[in-house]
Amino acid sequence: MNRFFKYLQVPFVSKTAYEEHQNKFLFPVIDKKWQEEQEAMMEELKTLGEGLHIGGDGRADSPGHSAKYGTYTTMELHLGKVINLQLVQSNEAKNSNWMELEGLKRSIDCLKSYGVELDAIVTDRHRSVAKWIRENLQETKHYFDIWHVAKGLGKKLDKLGQTQDCALVKEWKKSIINHLYWCAASTPDGNPEMMFAKWLSLCNHILGVHDGHSDLFPKCEHGPLAAPREKKWFKPGEKVTVELEKILTDTWRKKDVRQLSPLGQTSSLEGFHSTILHFAPKHTSFQYKGMHYRVILAALHVNENSGRERAYERSGEKQLTVYFSKAKKGEPSVRWETVASTYGE
Ligand SMILES: [Zn+2]
Repeated sequence: MNRFFKYLQVPFVSKTAYEEHQNKFLFPVIDKKWQEEQEAMMEELKTLGEGLHIGGDGRADSPGHSAKYGTYTTMELHLGKVINLQLVQSNEAKNSNWMELEGLKRSIDCLKSYGVELDAIVTDRHRSVAKWIRENLQETKHYFDIWHVAKGLGKKLDKLGQTQDCALVKEWKKSIINHLYWCAASTPDGNPEMMFAKWLSLCNHILGVHDGHSDLFPKCEHGPLAAPREKKWFKPGEKVTVELEKILTDTWRKKDVRQLSPLGQTSSLEGFHSTILHFAPKHTSFQYKGMHYRVILAALHVNENSGRERAYERSGEKQLTVYFSKAKKGEPSVRWETVASTYGE
């Protein structure tokens, strides 16, 4: 490159000068802006008078940077904004579980330094994370991100759908996953027993029985169902019904469904992790500092374009729209309303 410009006799910034400019001017500006943004978010949260509701997600394998860095991102769910970032170098990380927990610990230390209460945390189902939260943050509610719970359930349903005489499960997969999202979305206070009662009503619903479920949740809340039916009802006692009921009521479901997050989902963090690529393309490798500030730039961009439209409704009335993308091999995702990106300030 430099040789090319020399040939043309066009003055060009050298690599050293470029790096010096980055270190002296660009990085301090990003740092200052990020500090200000974090402080402004904390002030806004204090005026809300509630503790933080955070969602955390770690990526040990940020696409394209797998050899070097993992990113742990914390989003504040009232604001729908990235509030904390931890970049962990791969030589520090023993494995992805370690990265997940270490990222969370560092984020929480950092957030606590602002003197705010942590009211609720949404994470995936890493056992080490659940144990640490239980032991160290006893005043904080811990919820599981529905996307992760749905992913595990989806795999089980797929497996069953492939066995003999069980193809009906394939037709029902989307409805079953939708019901999982609905159990949480329709229970804004996160009452574990109510969420589980709603979940169990599915065992009746799939048989075409819509009332007499339980004291807590006696009948289905859907309106009249379309006739003729797109998919058949299950029949009591048949192999496929028995096997499906086993999955719907197994130990994991009993635990996971009671802890489903009625708050915003960490799925929006998925989008953030792909935004990082926009600021730190995979074909270039970066030093720690260079990567660190590029990740922060990505957060500033995402925050500018998220805000209240994407934050969850405090009343809990907002409907979650679940869609099944082909790119994700039919895995469920939550669709947020999107607005055109801006690059202000
Ligand atoms: Zn029903």
